[in-house]
Amino acid sequence: MPDDKPAAPPDKLLADWIRRDYAALAESTLDRDAATWERTSCRACGAGDLAEVLSLGTMPPANAFIDPAHLAAPEPRFPLGLMLCARCGMVQLRHVVPPELLFRAYSFFTSMSLAMSAHFAGLMNDHARRRVGPGGLVVEIGSNDGTALSSIQRRDVRVLGVDPARNVTVMAAARGVPTVAEFFTEPLAREIRRVAGPASLIVGCNVLGHIDDLDEVCRGIDALLSDDGAFVFEVPYLGKLLEHVEFDTIYHEHLSYFAVRPLVALFSRHGLRLDEIEMFPVHGGTIRGVVVRGEGCSGQVSAWIDAEARAGMATRAPFDELAARTAAMGDRLRAWLSEQKAHGRRVWGYGAPAKGTVLLNHFGIGTDLLPVVVDSTPAKQGLHMPGTRQPILAPAEVATQAPEAVLLLAWNHAREIAGREAAYRAAGGRLLTPDLREVSP
Ligand SMILES: [Zn+2]
Repeated sequence: MPDDKPAAPPDKLLADWIRRDYAALAESTLDRDAATWERTSCRACGAGDLAEVLSLGTMPPANAFIDPAHLAAPEPRFPLGLMLCARCGMVQLRHVVPPELLFRAYSFFTSMSLAMSAHFAGLMNDHARRRVGPGGLVVEIGSNDGTALSSIQRRDVRVLGVDPARNVTVMAAARGVPTVAEFFTEPLAREIRRVAGPASLIVGCNVLGHIDDLDEVCRGIDALLSDDGAFVFEVPYLGKLLEHVEFDTIYHEHLSYFAVRPLVALFSRHGLRLDEIEMFPVHGGTIRGVVVRGEGCSGQVSAWIDAEARAGMATRAPFDELAARTAAMGDRLRAWLSEQKAHGRRVWGYGAPAKGTVLLNHFGIGTDLLPVVVDSTPAKQGLHMPGTRQPILAPAEVATQAPEAVLLLAWNHAREIAGREAAYRAAGGRLLTPDLREVSP
């Protein structure tokens, strides 16, 4: 693809285009009749050889928090199970819930976690410095409230966010980050290139796992990326999910659970080369990958694939072990909660992330064992947990009502929460993770 970069338009041009010209395109790509469907071919390599390796039964959509006015209405539930591709080792959900149902309103805001904001700002600044010249274009897929892109706006670069969740893109606009409220597709990528020229850097953090049609995303990257540009992504690492029994990160929004080998299988089908892999201790273990134009993968990436093969990650065995360790964790947690209740000690949930919905529903922990959940997201306060129905209150209630212990459903933010609740801990309150470890900052 020729690098036919036009004169750099000012950001205002992008902002005007977002308001007007892409509206017709957005209308044409909206699937109004979407229903749950079942995958029969691998999302990474296209093979038809998928076998179920884990089932978590049925589950309500993990972010479908319930308004008190709708508590009497039935909740939708969908099957939740993992399939393993025999050809490339890709681990993926069998049932796909329509993204229109899951992503048009999104209740996680990047800016609400200082630790995550700093992590993404580090990524943006590092790669913008390495790869983007003056006036170059940086596009973020799944840009949320614009936190990461806003961290490089003082550089001489143009930024554009793409995120289908309309509520977060409004916040991005308020932050001055031009954002297209749409799914990232090849037609959209071509439109962006036509208006703004090729992108030197495309970033997608915790977004590939949310997208059913990864071929479409790769075609979009191919259409938008400059010849010497890079696509930098982050995804939670399957190896850490298995190692740390992070079964509660399995939910309908997360369609894929990535190892390195299937990522190479995916990108190489689109003339893209996985060049670097780096591990970070966020979200329980995240890999950052750098993709450039080319074929295959680097020697460094090959070493990851060899290690995955030695660990048997593309076999059924680690998933059987995950199921057994998950069941044991549930037994332990329910027994402990029953014991606390018998002694008249109150235990609340801390954080109402999607993984909290999975944990409470899969372990059958209702309001009898855990009566209340608190969360710092104002949009969630006043609503109820999907399935198990706990009311969600503001974290300030922990200080005033002083439950004897809180269970960190948002365990990936454990240190941040422990820091925030120092006074509660000093007053004798206990903070525990779902595997019943005490947390300190
Ligand atoms: Zn495959």
